[in-house]
Amino acid sequence: MALEDLHPETLAISRGRPPHLAGEGINLPISLNSTFVAGGPINYGRTGNETWQPLEDAISALEEASSTLLFSSGMSAITAVFSLLPHGAPVVASHEGYSGTMSLLKRHHKDGRLEVRFVDITDTKEVIAQMQGAAFLWMESPTNPGLGVAEVGIIIGEAKKRNLGVGFDNTFATPLNQKPLTFGADIVMHSVTKYLAGHSDVILGSLSVKDPALHSRLLDARISFGAIAGPFEAWLALRGIRTFPLRFEKAQTNAALLAKKLESHAVVDNVRYPGFGAIVSFEVKGDAIAAERVCDGANLIINATSLGGVETTWERRRRWELESQSVPENLIRLSVGCENVEDLWVDIDTALSKA
Ligand SMILES: *Cc1c(COP(=O)(O)O)cnc(C)c1O
Repeated sequence: MALEDLHPETLAISRGRPPHLAGEGINLPISLNSTFVAGGPINYGRTGNETWQPLEDAISALEEASSTLLFSSGMSAITAVFSLLPHGAPVVASHEGYSGTMSLLKRHHKDGRLEVRFVDITDTKEVIAQMQGAAFLWMESPTNPGLGVAEVGIIIGEAKKRNLGVGFDNTFATPLNQKPLTFGADIVMHSVTKYLAGHSDVILGSLSVKDPALHSRLLDARISFGAIAGPFEAWLALRGIRTFPLRFEKAQTNAALLAKKLESHAVVDNVRYPGFGAIVSFEVKGDAIAAERVCDGANLIINATSLGGVETTWERRRRWELESQSVPENLIRLSVGCENVEDLWVDIDTALSKA
């Protein structure tokens, strides 16, 4: 059976394993080496590590990429992408997005390093208009935390027609919902920290590409910045990715059910759920303090930042100074996990009664 015929849950389980040889382990050992005997494929631990490769191969298979590079975090992966752009390059980017990306882009803009044109990614006409003379498009869809959805295929197609490079943060949607490389994006980025690893115990990032020349430039950035993954983190994430489709499908089903229930709850307003994924944002009727009381008022659901773990978490986003002022003070971002959905609803309902 050809690779392209395999389904994602099969790829997640079967990729990145050693050859099936009698007596050999079915998992690769963790390679704890900073240096290697001269003359082989790897010479030094900053240029390569045998524990990265299987995880990179599994992510490549899921994203239909030719190759993937693992980084020390999602943010170091994003930093490597923007480092390829020349000084002052015009970049089109969503005005709403992951807060770390937003502050990095704002800093580059302020320093004159990049000329960032912030757009409403859900307004296709505006996005296309801003592509005029631009060098690069950075996309995130659904956006964080408002969960705006872009017309991904159309926008990437228009960008490629105009010769823009396209980078796509696919952390929220995951390759189970969309594969931006198949629409023509040049780079797909993941915060592997989230769904791919899935257990809230590692920080890692990745960049997946189709073009070998682009791979070389990103590899060069990784080697020269030294933004490399620890072998143990890579091993944990590989262990995590084996169950990623299973976890994500469960979390997504839970999220759709909870979004529906939240919509008809008396103290909830403006439920945002794009119809896929496992993040739901909603507003609590009342002020920031009421929303904080809800986040602290659950028994199961943990008041914590980040997302994509097996355990359900939520937080009031505006507790972060970095978060955009356009995000309502009473907005809670819920990252739905894999618990029983009725247990989760009882917990949410209890917490909401404390608003
Ligand atoms: C978490 C996250 C990042 C940053 O990744 P880190 O692994 O925390 O560095 C980037 N984009 C999105 C959408 C995220 O959720």
